[in-house]
Formats: sequence, structure tokens, C-alpha cells
Amino acid sequence: MEASDPMDFAYYDFVLTVPNEWRIITEKKSEYGRGQIAFLPPKDDKFSVDLLWENLDVYKSKGATVEAFIDNYFENLRKNRNIVDLETYKGELTKWEGHEMLYHEFKYTFKQMMRRGFTQHVVGIAIYDTHSNRFIISYAKIDPKKEAYENTARDIIRTFHCNCSESAPPTAPPAPNAAPSEAPQ
Ligand SMILES: [Zn+2]
Repeated sequence: MEASDPMDFAYYDFVLTVPNEWRIITEKKSEYGRGQIAFLPPKDDKFSVDLLWENLDVYKSKGATVEAFIDNYFENLRKNRNIVDLETYKGELTKWEGHEMLYHEFKYTFKQMMRRGFTQHVVGIAIYDTHSNRFIISYAKIDPKKEAYENTARDIIRTFHCNCSESAPPTAPPAPNAAPSEAPQ
């Protein structure tokens, strides 16, 4: 086995593939409904791919769908007068049972009077999970002067999968003799 072979990380129905020498730090108050995990390369605490999840109800007020949420987020960046050179990218919307997932990237320069500006580049994936009622986001901030982890971060984030609808359902299954919701043809 090579040091950088991929390994599957699975936790609370989330699955991500990360290089096997990376470290995994779980915020200790994490639980199924909300929490935070950081994936860090060896010997470098300045870079991380973060995974956060929260109750979906909080986020639905910011966008009825995951695409509306991202559109609103981009719109707020666009309205911010301290933000210049904004570039945004939305990937294709992925849907599976109870899940909507949207890959995205954005880059901008933040400038404020009398202060030094900085450039931010974020790669991420946002998920509305109506099956487990969670908002999930995985993202990494790429340092434009040090883009060493850029492609690794994209690779990790793109492997994200939530299998809550394939494992035990969060709600009780219907009684065995319950009427089927759709009559057979
Ligand atoms: Zn799920």
C-alpha cells in the first residue's frame, strides 16, 4: 500500500474518499444531526477540507432548493462592495433519493479602505438532504499563492456521498400491510 492510496471515510452516513495519510479531526460535539469534521494533509495545519452539517430547516429559509441557496450566496457576494473580481462556477445538479447536491467554486478579491486585501478561492459541494433533514457542505479554501492542494481538494469533495437513504431510514418503515402509495399498473 502506498502512503497516498485513497481510503474511504464513512461516518454518520457520509462517505468521502481521502488520501490515507491525511488526518481526520472530528469536532467532539458532533452528532448525527449536526457536526463538523476536518481532513488535513500530513504535517500541514494550514490547509483543510472541511465537512459541516446542520439542521436543514435553518437553511431552507436561505433558499428553497440547494441551487437557490448557492444562487443567493453568490448574489450576496456580488452585492458586497468590498468584493471585486468575483468569479463563480456551478456544476451540474445531482439528485438521488431525498438528496440534491451542487458542486461549486468561487473566487474573489476582498478590498477594504486602508487595509490589505486578500484573494479567496473556495471549492465546495452543498447538499440538501430531505431524507435525514440535514444541510451538508464540504469545502476547502485554496490559497492562490500555494495551490498545491487544489486538485486533491476537488478530488476529495467530488467523492462525497450520503447513503442515509440506502441504510436505515430515519423514520419508521410503513407497516407491512399498509396500502401501497401507487397502485400497480
Ligand atoms: Zn443523506
